[in-house]
Amino acid sequence: MDCIFCKIANGEIPSNKVYEDDKILAFYDLEPQAPVHVLVIPKEHICCADALNSENSAVVGYIFSKIPEITAKLGLTNGYRIVNNCKEDGGQTVFHLHFHILGGKKLNVNMA
Ligand code: 5GP
Ligand code: ZN
Repeated sequence: MDCIFCKIANGEIPSNKVYEDDKILAFYDLEPQAPVHVLVIPKEHICCADALNSENSAVVGYIFSKIPEITAKLGLTNGYRIVNNCKEDGGQTVFHLHFHILGGKKLNVNMA
């Protein structure tokens, strides 16, 4: 399967890693949209939030359980935003589930 984030997860494509374990990987976004912009992905290929179900969604809870540790490492003590873009209308461009962590400044409140 030709998936950029699967290739990043298995090391085929290099990335600037922030956190990694057997289930998830956090790495810096190539085109940052905030002073700090990191992506957190499950290593397992799940295309998007719309493909989550009772069989594969445990990793989402696991990702969120690690976000305080990841953001502490990034120095985001004053807060941050977690974003998931889902499918066409959500603006998703890479079809491997990922959560954007944005921070390092007071972010705009405009959500749409
Ligand atoms: P989406 O628009 O799907 O929510 O977000 C995809 C994100 O992946 C974008 O912010 C884009 O900059 C980032 N991205 C795309 N390709 C690569 C890559 O090869 N390496 C890294 N580090 N980020 C990437
Ligand atoms: Zn993938």
